[in-house]
Amino acid sequence: MNLLLGQNRRYSVLYVVNKPVRGKIREHYPTQIGVWECMDGRTRMESATEMPAGILQSWENGGARFDLRWPHFQTSFMDWYGHARKNGRPCVVLVSWHRSRSNVHLGCKAHRYDDAAAEALARAQVKELWSRFKEDDGKRHLYPIEVCLETDSETMIFQRRKDSATLDVSGLEILSQPEAQKRLQGFYPDVPPCVLDDLLATIIAGNIRHIQKVRSMGRTVEECDHCESIIAVGRGLEWLDKRAFIIGPFDPRFPDMVETAAKIVLENFHKGTVDVAGGAMLLASTPFRECLGRPGREMAGLRASSLLDTAHTVIKERVPDLVPHLRYTIAGTVSNDTRRFLPVDVVRQGQS
Ligand SMILES: [Zn+2]
Repeated sequence: MNLLLGQNRRYSVLYVVNKPVRGKIREHYPTQIGVWECMDGRTRMESATEMPAGILQSWENGGARFDLRWPHFQTSFMDWYGHARKNGRPCVVLVSWHRSRSNVHLGCKAHRYDDAAAEALARAQVKELWSRFKEDDGKRHLYPIEVCLETDSETMIFQRRKDSATLDVSGLEILSQPEAQKRLQGFYPDVPPCVLDDLLATIIAGNIRHIQKVRSMGRTVEECDHCESIIAVGRGLEWLDKRAFIIGPFDPRFPDMVETAAKIVLENFHKGTVDVAGGAMLLASTPFRECLGRPGREMAGLRASSLLDTAHTVIKERVPDLVPHLRYTIAGTVSNDTRRFLPVDVVRQGQS
């Protein structure tokens, strides 16, 4: 647990130190970027695009499944959208799905490894966002874009809304900036060039740097597999790395998502992709605004404890074989201002 808290401390220090960097990025590239992504630890877009903490706003759920009818999800999403609209900033939502080039069973378990189903859902979600986020005068502030993350190489592959055309970021690697701009504008003629230029300078440039690093590692197939031992539920969890599933609190099928994640962690122990001796961890987190003082922090702590209880009950009832492996259950709060995680309820469980 100390390792985990240390990881959060480092992330928080960087987040605080990088405040001027975030300011500069927002000033030069005003497009606000959100990501709908899978709970799968291998699919963190912040890591795949090498963006400094706090630039991307992500929502996580099993299979990157989101529904604008879910009340709390809609509130969270509209808060984000409203902030950008008020400040005159365009929004891009990366509606993501993931697959593995080398092995279909390294794809999305929440979609039963069915790449076509994962893509069809992303496509439907893009279509809905495109149709609902049009103003009365026909203008729009939000551009949904489908993107597949190929997890072996962590390459982003953009998909066009109206047909099956794809644009692999690795194909932009050798192009000059004007050539890449032209290519992207030709691919997305209905997205303003200034928005595409912002994407190119931020997430696409970051993904190009990232895939070059991944390529130089020469990963084995085993290294492309799941390695999660942490099931994290709630919000404010971007500081966790690929060892964690992150499950947002929005989906009415939240227990099913926790069950899927718990089964994969158990499989990871059985397959040996994760060391059994290290044990598993269940973590719940709720963010709070420091301007709400102690009561705000207390309320966030209560919500985190409730989420933890729900997730723990799901694991005990549906994946009981994981229970002896659970080393810690932790509920905590995360400051929106510093991204610092503060544990409020830590229980050390029996050891495996
Ligand atoms: Zn997935």
